[in-house]
Amino acid sequence: MGCRSLDAEGDGPGVSDERPRLGERTRIVQAGRRSEWTGGIVNPPVWRASTILYDSVADLRAAAGRDTHHRLFYGRRGTPTQWSLADALTALEPGAEATMLYPSGVAAIAGALLAVLSPGDELLLPDSAYDPTRSLAGGLLARMGITTRFYDPLIGADIAAMIGPATRAIFMESPGSLTFEVQDVPAIVGVANAHGLVTLLDNTWATPLLFPAIARGVDYTILACTKYVVGHSDVMLGSVTAAEGRYASLRDAAYQLGQYVSPDDAWLGSRGLRTMALRLKEQGAAALAVAQWLRTRPEVARVLHPALPDCPGHEVFARDFAGGSGLFSFVLAGGTDAARAALIDGLQHFGIGYSWGGYESLALPVDPTRHRSVTRWEAEGPVVRLQIGLEDEADLIADLDAGLARFRAAA
Ligand SMILES: *Cc1c(COP(=O)(O)O)cnc(C)c1O
Repeated sequence: MGCRSLDAEGDGPGVSDERPRLGERTRIVQAGRRSEWTGGIVNPPVWRASTILYDSVADLRAAAGRDTHHRLFYGRRGTPTQWSLADALTALEPGAEATMLYPSGVAAIAGALLAVLSPGDELLLPDSAYDPTRSLAGGLLARMGITTRFYDPLIGADIAAMIGPATRAIFMESPGSLTFEVQDVPAIVGVANAHGLVTLLDNTWATPLLFPAIARGVDYTILACTKYVVGHSDVMLGSVTAAEGRYASLRDAAYQLGQYVSPDDAWLGSRGLRTMALRLKEQGAAALAVAQWLRTRPEVARVLHPALPDCPGHEVFARDFAGGSGLFSFVLAGGTDAARAALIDGLQHFGIGYSWGGYESLALPVDPTRHRSVTRWEAEGPVVRLQIGLEDEADLIADLDAGLARFRAAA
Protein backbone atom coordinates (compact mmCIF):
# COMPACT_ATOMS: atom_id res chain seq x y z
CA MET A 1 0.00 0.00 0.00
CA GLY A 2 1.64 3.20 -1.11
CA CYS A 3 0.79 6.56 0.28
CA ARG A 4 0.62 8.32 -3.06
CA SER A 5 -3.12 8.33 -3.50
CA LEU A 6 -3.46 9.86 -0.06
CA ASP A 7 -1.52 12.90 -1.09
CA ALA A 8 -4.36 14.10 -3.28
CA GLU A 9 -5.43 17.55 -2.19
CA GLY A 10 -8.77 18.24 -0.60
CA ASP A 11 -11.61 15.93 0.25
CA GLY A 12 -12.11 14.53 -3.26
CA PRO A 13 -15.57 13.32 -4.17
CA GLY A 14 -16.20 12.49 -0.50
CA VAL A 15 -19.56 12.64 1.17
CA SER A 16 -18.69 15.61 3.34
CA ASP A 17 -19.38 17.94 0.41
CA GLU A 18 -23.04 16.96 0.54
CA ARG A 19 -23.31 17.01 4.33
CA PRO A 20 -25.98 19.67 4.76
CA ARG A 21 -28.34 18.07 2.27
CA LEU A 22 -28.27 14.53 3.64
CA GLY A 23 -30.33 12.98 6.41
CA GLU A 24 -28.67 11.79 9.58
CA ARG A 25 -28.94 8.09 8.83
CA THR A 26 -27.48 8.54 5.36
CA ARG A 27 -24.60 10.51 6.81
CA ILE A 28 -23.90 7.77 9.38
CA VAL A 29 -23.75 5.17 6.62
CA GLN A 30 -21.51 7.21 4.31
CA ALA A 31 -19.34 9.29 6.63
CA GLY A 32 -15.59 8.73 6.59
CA ARG A 33 -15.67 6.17 3.78
CA ARG A 34 -13.49 7.99 1.26
CA SER A 35 -12.49 5.76 -1.62
CA GLU A 36 -8.80 6.62 -1.24
CA TRP A 37 -8.98 5.24 2.31
CA THR A 38 -11.13 2.18 1.63
CA GLY A 39 -9.92 1.19 -1.85
CA GLY A 40 -13.43 0.07 -2.73
CA ILE A 41 -13.86 -2.06 0.41
CA VAL A 42 -17.07 -1.17 2.27
CA ASN A 43 -15.58 -0.82 5.74
CA PRO A 44 -12.36 1.21 6.03
CA PRO A 45 -9.72 -1.50 6.49
CA VAL A 46 -7.20 -1.69 9.33
CA TRP A 47 -4.03 0.10 8.26
CA ARG A 48 -1.36 -0.73 10.85
CA ALA A 49 1.83 1.32 10.83
CA SER A 50 4.68 2.79 12.78
CA THR A 51 7.24 3.53 10.04
CA ILE A 52 6.08 5.17 6.83
CA LEU A 53 8.62 4.89 4.00
CA TYR A 54 9.58 7.80 1.77
CA ASP A 55 11.00 7.71 -1.76
CA SER A 56 13.96 9.99 -1.08
CA VAL A 57 15.57 12.35 1.40
CA ALA A 58 13.88 15.23 -0.38
CA ASP A 59 10.51 13.50 -0.05
CA LEU A 60 11.12 12.87 3.67
CA ARG A 61 12.12 16.50 4.26
CA ALA A 62 9.09 17.82 2.38
CA ALA A 63 6.78 15.64 4.49
CA ALA A 64 8.24 16.98 7.75
CA GLY A 65 7.45 20.54 6.74
CA ARG A 66 3.82 20.19 5.80
CA ASP A 67 0.51 19.69 7.57
CA THR A 68 0.15 15.98 8.32
CA HIS A 69 -3.65 16.07 8.57
CA HIS A 70 -4.90 13.14 6.46
CA ARG A 71 -1.39 12.38 5.19
CA LEU A 72 0.73 9.38 6.13
CA PHE A 73 3.74 10.68 8.07
CA TYR A 74 4.52 8.47 11.06
CA GLY A 75 2.33 5.89 12.79
CA ARG A 76 1.53 8.12 15.76
CA ARG A 77 -0.26 10.56 13.45
CA GLY A 78 -2.59 7.77 12.37
CA THR A 79 -3.53 6.06 9.15
CA PRO A 80 -6.75 6.12 7.10
CA THR A 81 -8.36 3.82 9.69
CA GLN A 82 -8.26 6.46 12.43
CA TRP A 83 -8.88 9.35 10.01
CA SER A 84 -12.01 7.64 8.75
CA LEU A 85 -13.58 7.43 12.21
CA ALA A 86 -12.53 10.97 13.11
CA ASP A 87 -13.95 12.25 9.83
CA ALA A 88 -17.22 10.40 10.36
CA LEU A 89 -17.63 11.94 13.82
CA THR A 90 -16.97 15.39 12.36
CA ALA A 91 -19.61 14.80 9.68
CA LEU A 92 -22.22 14.24 12.42
CA GLU A 93 -21.61 17.71 13.88
CA PRO A 94 -22.68 20.47 11.49
CA GLY A 95 -20.30 23.42 11.87
CA ALA A 96 -17.40 21.34 13.20
CA GLU A 97 -13.84 21.69 11.90
CA ALA A 98 -12.29 18.32 12.82
CA THR A 99 -12.13 15.56 15.43
CA MET A 100 -9.25 14.16 17.50
CA LEU A 101 -9.43 10.59 18.83
CA TYR A 102 -8.19 9.52 22.27
CA PRO A 103 -7.64 6.13 23.93
CA SER A 104 -10.59 6.66 26.34
CA GLY A 105 -13.30 9.15 27.20
CA VAL A 106 -11.30 10.40 30.18
CA ALA A 107 -8.26 10.92 27.93
CA ALA A 108 -10.49 12.97 25.61
CA ILE A 109 -11.67 15.17 28.52
CA ALA A 110 -8.05 15.63 29.67
CA GLY A 111 -6.89 16.31 26.11
CA ALA A 112 -9.49 19.02 25.59
CA LEU A 113 -8.88 20.71 28.95
CA LEU A 114 -5.09 20.65 28.55
CA ALA A 115 -5.49 22.20 25.10
CA VAL A 116 -7.50 25.09 26.51
CA LEU A 117 -6.14 25.85 30.01
CA SER A 118 -2.88 27.39 31.23
CA PRO A 119 -1.44 27.97 34.71
CA GLY A 120 -3.39 30.73 36.47
CA ASP A 121 -6.62 29.98 34.62
CA GLU A 122 -9.89 29.14 36.32
CA LEU A 123 -12.24 26.42 35.09
CA LEU A 124 -15.97 26.29 35.86
CA LEU A 125 -17.21 22.71 36.31
CA PRO A 126 -20.77 21.52 37.01
CA ASP A 127 -21.28 19.84 40.38
CA SER A 128 -22.90 16.90 38.57
CA ALA A 129 -19.78 16.16 36.49
CA TYR A 130 -18.48 12.65 35.89
CA ASP A 131 -16.30 11.80 38.86
CA PRO A 132 -13.02 11.26 36.94
CA THR A 133 -13.48 14.78 35.48
CA ARG A 134 -13.63 16.10 39.05
CA SER A 135 -10.51 14.08 39.90
CA LEU A 136 -8.63 15.61 36.96
CA ALA A 137 -9.61 19.11 38.11
CA GLY A 138 -8.58 18.44 41.71
CA GLY A 139 -5.41 16.55 40.75
CA LEU A 140 -3.35 17.27 37.65
CA LEU A 141 -5.03 20.59 36.80
CA ALA A 142 -4.66 21.88 40.37
CA ARG A 143 -1.00 20.82 40.36
CA MET A 144 -0.50 22.88 37.18
CA GLY A 145 -1.92 25.96 38.91
CA ILE A 146 -5.35 25.76 37.29
CA THR A 147 -8.17 26.35 39.75
CA THR A 148 -11.69 24.96 39.49
CA ARG A 149 -14.94 26.42 40.74
CA PHE A 150 -17.91 24.11 40.82
CA TYR A 151 -21.33 25.42 39.83
CA ASP A 152 -24.92 24.24 40.18
CA PRO A 153 -25.69 22.38 36.93
CA LEU A 154 -29.09 24.15 36.81
CA ILE A 155 -27.49 27.61 36.98
CA GLY A 156 -28.24 28.58 33.35
CA ALA A 157 -27.49 32.21 32.43
CA ASP A 158 -26.78 33.04 36.11
CA ILE A 159 -23.34 31.55 35.52
CA ALA A 160 -22.41 35.12 34.48
CA ALA A 161 -22.12 35.97 38.21
CA MET A 162 -19.38 33.35 38.68
CA ILE A 163 -17.09 34.65 35.97
CA GLY A 164 -13.98 36.37 37.27
CA PRO A 165 -10.81 37.80 35.68
CA ALA A 166 -9.07 34.39 35.67
CA THR A 167 -12.01 32.40 34.28
CA ARG A 168 -10.98 30.84 31.00
CA ALA A 169 -13.40 27.98 30.25
CA ILE A 170 -16.81 26.58 31.14
CA PHE A 171 -17.20 22.81 31.11
CA MET A 172 -20.67 21.29 30.83
CA GLU A 173 -22.05 17.78 31.01
CA SER A 174 -25.69 17.38 30.12
CA PRO A 175 -27.43 15.48 31.51
CA GLY A 176 -25.16 15.11 34.55
CA SER A 177 -23.63 11.81 35.58
CA LEU A 178 -25.69 9.69 38.01
CA THR A 179 -28.41 12.31 38.65
CA PHE A 180 -29.22 13.55 35.11
CA GLU A 181 -29.68 17.30 35.64
CA VAL A 182 -30.17 18.78 32.17
CA GLN A 183 -28.10 21.92 31.62
CA ASP A 184 -29.23 24.99 29.68
CA VAL A 185 -26.34 24.74 27.23
CA PRO A 186 -27.51 27.55 24.89
CA ALA A 187 -27.85 29.98 27.84
CA ILE A 188 -24.39 29.09 29.20
CA VAL A 189 -22.82 29.30 25.73
CA GLY A 190 -24.40 32.75 25.28
CA VAL A 191 -22.80 33.99 28.52
CA ALA A 192 -19.46 32.37 27.66
CA ASN A 193 -19.39 34.01 24.24
CA ALA A 194 -20.16 37.41 25.74
CA HIS A 195 -17.13 37.00 28.05
CA GLY A 196 -14.79 35.44 25.48
CA LEU A 197 -14.67 32.08 27.32
CA VAL A 198 -14.17 28.65 25.80
CA THR A 199 -16.99 26.10 26.20
CA LEU A 200 -16.62 22.33 26.44
CA LEU A 201 -19.41 19.77 26.67
CA ASP A 202 -19.29 16.11 27.68
CA ASN A 203 -22.02 14.97 25.26
CA THR A 204 -21.62 11.23 25.85
CA TRP A 205 -25.24 10.64 26.91
CA ALA A 206 -26.92 12.33 23.94
CA THR A 207 -24.30 11.94 21.19
CA PRO A 208 -24.54 14.39 18.25
CA LEU A 209 -27.66 12.53 17.12
CA LEU A 210 -29.76 13.73 20.05
CA PHE A 211 -27.91 16.99 20.74
CA PRO A 212 -25.75 18.49 17.95
CA ALA A 213 -23.45 20.41 20.27
CA ILE A 214 -21.31 22.30 17.76
CA ALA A 215 -24.41 23.62 15.97
CA ARG A 216 -25.60 24.88 19.38
CA GLY A 217 -22.44 26.93 19.77
CA VAL A 218 -20.23 24.68 21.91
CA ASP A 219 -16.50 24.99 21.09
CA TYR A 220 -15.40 21.45 21.99
CA THR A 221 -17.76 18.49 22.23
CA ILE A 222 -16.47 15.36 23.92
CA LEU A 223 -17.67 11.77 23.57
CA ALA A 224 -16.70 8.71 25.54
CA CYS A 225 -16.97 6.64 22.34
CA THR A 226 -16.57 3.65 24.67
CA LYS A 227 -20.33 4.05 25.19
CA TYR A 228 -22.67 4.48 22.20
CA VAL A 229 -20.20 4.85 19.31
CA VAL A 230 -18.52 1.51 20.03
CA GLY A 231 -21.80 0.12 21.36
CA HIS A 232 -20.60 -3.40 22.13
CA SER A 233 -18.76 -3.03 25.47
CA ASP A 234 -15.46 -4.18 24.02
CA VAL A 235 -13.34 -1.08 23.25
CA MET A 236 -12.17 2.01 25.15
CA LEU A 237 -12.21 5.12 22.95
CA GLY A 238 -12.80 8.87 23.19
CA SER A 239 -13.16 11.83 20.85
CA VAL A 240 -13.18 15.61 20.88
CA THR A 241 -14.80 17.45 17.99
CA ALA A 242 -13.77 21.09 17.59
CA ALA A 243 -15.82 23.96 16.20
CA GLU A 244 -14.43 25.88 13.20
CA GLY A 245 -11.14 27.55 14.14
CA ARG A 246 -10.69 25.51 17.34
CA TYR A 247 -8.95 22.39 16.07
CA ALA A 248 -5.30 23.51 15.85
CA SER A 249 -4.78 23.92 19.61
CA LEU A 250 -6.52 20.60 20.30
CA ARG A 251 -4.31 18.83 17.75
CA ASP A 252 -1.11 20.44 19.03
CA ALA A 253 -1.82 19.33 22.62
CA ALA A 254 -2.68 15.80 21.48
CA TYR A 255 0.51 15.55 19.40
CA GLN A 256 2.66 16.87 22.23
CA LEU A 257 1.10 14.40 24.67
CA GLY A 258 1.63 11.54 22.20
CA GLN A 259 -2.06 10.62 22.12
CA TYR A 260 -2.74 7.65 19.88
CA VAL A 261 -5.56 5.19 19.20
CA SER A 262 -4.84 1.80 17.66
CA PRO A 263 -6.27 1.21 14.17
CA ASP A 264 -8.00 -1.91 15.46
CA ASP A 265 -9.90 0.08 18.08
CA ALA A 266 -10.72 2.84 15.58
CA TRP A 267 -12.00 0.19 13.16
CA LEU A 268 -14.30 -1.23 15.85
CA GLY A 269 -15.44 2.32 16.60
CA SER A 270 -16.33 2.86 12.92
CA ARG A 271 -18.13 -0.46 12.83
CA GLY A 272 -20.19 0.44 15.88
CA LEU A 273 -20.97 3.90 14.57
CA ARG A 274 -22.85 2.57 11.53
CA THR A 275 -25.63 1.17 13.74
CA MET A 276 -25.57 3.85 16.42
CA ALA A 277 -28.75 5.61 15.25
CA LEU A 278 -30.73 2.37 15.36
CA ARG A 279 -29.38 1.30 18.73
CA LEU A 280 -30.02 4.71 20.25
CA LYS A 281 -33.58 4.75 18.96
CA GLU A 282 -34.37 1.27 20.32
CA GLN A 283 -32.54 1.71 23.60
CA GLY A 284 -34.01 5.18 24.08
CA ALA A 285 -37.57 3.95 23.54
CA ALA A 286 -37.09 0.94 25.83
CA ALA A 287 -35.44 3.07 28.53
CA LEU A 288 -38.36 5.50 28.48
CA ALA A 289 -40.86 2.64 28.74
CA VAL A 290 -38.98 1.11 31.68
CA ALA A 291 -38.68 4.56 33.32
CA GLN A 292 -42.43 5.18 32.93
CA TRP A 293 -43.21 1.78 34.41
CA LEU A 294 -40.89 2.41 37.38
CA ARG A 295 -42.64 5.71 37.97
CA THR A 296 -45.91 3.90 38.69
CA ARG A 297 -44.33 1.73 41.37
CA PRO A 298 -44.80 2.48 45.08
CA GLU A 299 -41.22 1.33 45.85
CA VAL A 300 -39.88 4.12 43.61
CA ALA A 301 -39.84 7.73 44.85
CA ARG A 302 -38.55 9.42 41.67
CA VAL A 303 -37.26 8.52 38.25
CA LEU A 304 -34.35 10.67 37.05
CA HIS A 305 -34.88 10.44 33.30
CA PRO A 306 -34.61 13.75 31.38
CA ALA A 307 -37.81 13.00 29.43
CA LEU A 308 -39.84 12.77 32.67
CA PRO A 309 -41.00 15.78 34.68
CA ASP A 310 -39.33 14.55 37.93
CA CYS A 311 -35.94 15.18 36.36
CA PRO A 312 -34.35 18.60 37.06
CA GLY A 313 -34.01 20.47 33.76
CA HIS A 314 -36.78 18.48 32.06
CA GLU A 315 -38.11 21.63 30.28
CA VAL A 316 -34.67 22.28 28.81
CA PHE A 317 -34.51 18.68 27.63
CA ALA A 318 -37.91 19.00 25.94
CA ARG A 319 -36.74 22.20 24.22
CA ASP A 320 -33.24 21.14 23.12
CA PHE A 321 -32.95 17.37 22.63
CA ALA A 322 -34.16 15.20 19.76
CA GLY A 323 -34.85 12.33 22.20
CA GLY A 324 -33.41 10.36 25.08
CA SER A 325 -30.81 7.61 25.19
CA GLY A 326 -30.76 4.44 27.27
CA LEU A 327 -29.32 5.52 30.64
CA PHE A 328 -31.21 6.87 33.68
CA SER A 329 -31.49 6.51 37.44
CA PHE A 330 -34.29 5.98 39.93
CA VAL A 331 -34.56 6.82 43.61
CA LEU A 332 -36.02 4.17 45.88
CA ALA A 333 -38.70 5.19 48.40
CA GLY A 334 -36.72 4.67 51.59
CA GLY A 335 -34.94 1.38 52.19
CA THR A 336 -31.36 0.53 52.97
CA ASP A 337 -28.24 -0.17 50.97
CA ALA A 338 -28.76 -3.85 51.73
CA ALA A 339 -32.30 -3.74 50.32
CA ARG A 340 -30.95 -2.04 47.18
CA ALA A 341 -28.30 -4.77 46.88
CA ALA A 342 -31.03 -7.42 47.18
CA LEU A 343 -32.86 -5.74 44.28
CA ILE A 344 -29.75 -5.60 42.07
CA ASP A 345 -28.05 -8.88 43.01
CA GLY A 346 -30.94 -11.08 41.90
CA LEU A 347 -31.50 -9.45 38.50
CA GLN A 348 -31.29 -11.98 35.66
CA HIS A 349 -30.96 -9.66 32.67
CA PHE A 350 -28.94 -6.76 34.09
CA GLY A 351 -25.20 -7.10 34.58
CA ILE A 352 -23.55 -5.34 37.50
CA GLY A 353 -20.67 -3.19 36.27
CA TYR A 354 -19.32 0.19 35.18
CA SER A 355 -19.71 1.82 31.81
CA TRP A 356 -22.80 1.74 29.60
CA GLY A 357 -23.90 2.23 25.98
CA GLY A 358 -23.43 -1.42 25.00
CA TYR A 359 -26.15 -3.73 23.70
CA GLU A 360 -26.70 -5.33 27.11
CA SER A 361 -28.50 -4.00 30.17
CA LEU A 362 -26.68 -3.00 33.37
CA ALA A 363 -27.69 -2.00 36.88
CA LEU A 364 -25.44 -0.02 39.21
CA PRO A 365 -25.87 1.24 42.78
CA VAL A 366 -24.87 4.91 42.80
CA ASP A 367 -24.26 7.28 45.72
CA PRO A 368 -24.25 10.88 44.42
CA THR A 369 -23.55 12.49 47.83
CA ARG A 370 -19.87 11.59 47.62
CA HIS A 371 -19.39 13.52 44.38
CA ARG A 372 -20.76 16.99 45.29
CA SER A 373 -19.21 20.16 46.61
CA VAL A 374 -21.55 23.15 46.04
CA THR A 375 -24.95 21.46 45.82
CA ARG A 376 -26.51 18.93 48.18
CA TRP A 377 -27.90 15.62 47.03
CA GLU A 378 -31.02 14.86 49.07
CA ALA A 379 -33.12 11.85 48.26
CA GLU A 380 -35.82 9.64 49.70
CA GLY A 381 -33.66 6.52 49.49
CA PRO A 382 -30.81 4.78 47.67
CA VAL A 383 -30.32 5.31 43.93
CA VAL A 384 -29.99 2.75 41.14
CA ARG A 385 -28.70 3.60 37.67
CA LEU A 386 -29.95 1.51 34.75
CA GLN A 387 -28.47 1.12 31.29
CA ILE A 388 -31.13 -0.37 29.04
CA GLY A 389 -29.84 -2.67 26.32
CA LEU A 390 -31.45 -4.37 23.34
CA GLU A 391 -33.24 -7.15 25.25
CA ASP A 392 -37.04 -7.44 25.13
CA GLU A 393 -38.60 -4.71 27.21
CA ALA A 394 -41.10 -7.12 28.81
CA ASP A 395 -38.27 -9.33 30.10
CA LEU A 396 -36.50 -6.33 31.62
CA ILE A 397 -39.68 -5.09 33.31
CA ALA A 398 -40.49 -8.56 34.70
CA ASP A 399 -36.94 -8.78 36.03
CA LEU A 400 -37.22 -5.38 37.74
CA ASP A 401 -40.66 -6.32 39.09
CA ALA A 402 -39.09 -9.31 40.84
CA GLY A 403 -36.24 -7.04 41.99
CA LEU A 404 -38.66 -4.59 43.59
CA ALA A 405 -40.33 -7.52 45.39
CA ARG A 406 -36.91 -8.48 46.82
CA PHE A 407 -36.37 -4.85 47.81
CA ARG A 408 -39.76 -4.76 49.64
CA ALA A 409 -38.96 -7.99 51.46
CA ALA A 410 -35.53 -6.70 52.55
CA ALA A 411 -36.53 -3.09 53.36
C1 LIG B 1 -17.86 6.78 30.82
C2 LIG B 1 -17.88 8.25 30.74
C3 LIG B 1 -16.73 8.96 30.47
C4 LIG B 1 -15.37 8.32 30.35
O1 LIG B 1 -15.25 7.42 29.31
P1 LIG B 1 -14.14 6.24 29.37
O2 LIG B 1 -14.05 5.80 27.96
O3 LIG B 1 -14.70 5.22 30.31
O4 LIG B 1 -12.87 6.84 29.87
C5 LIG B 1 -16.81 10.33 30.36
N1 LIG B 1 -17.98 10.96 30.53
C6 LIG B 1 -19.11 10.31 30.81
C7 LIG B 1 -20.37 11.08 30.99
C8 LIG B 1 -19.11 8.93 30.94
O5 LIG B 1 -20.22 8.28 31.27
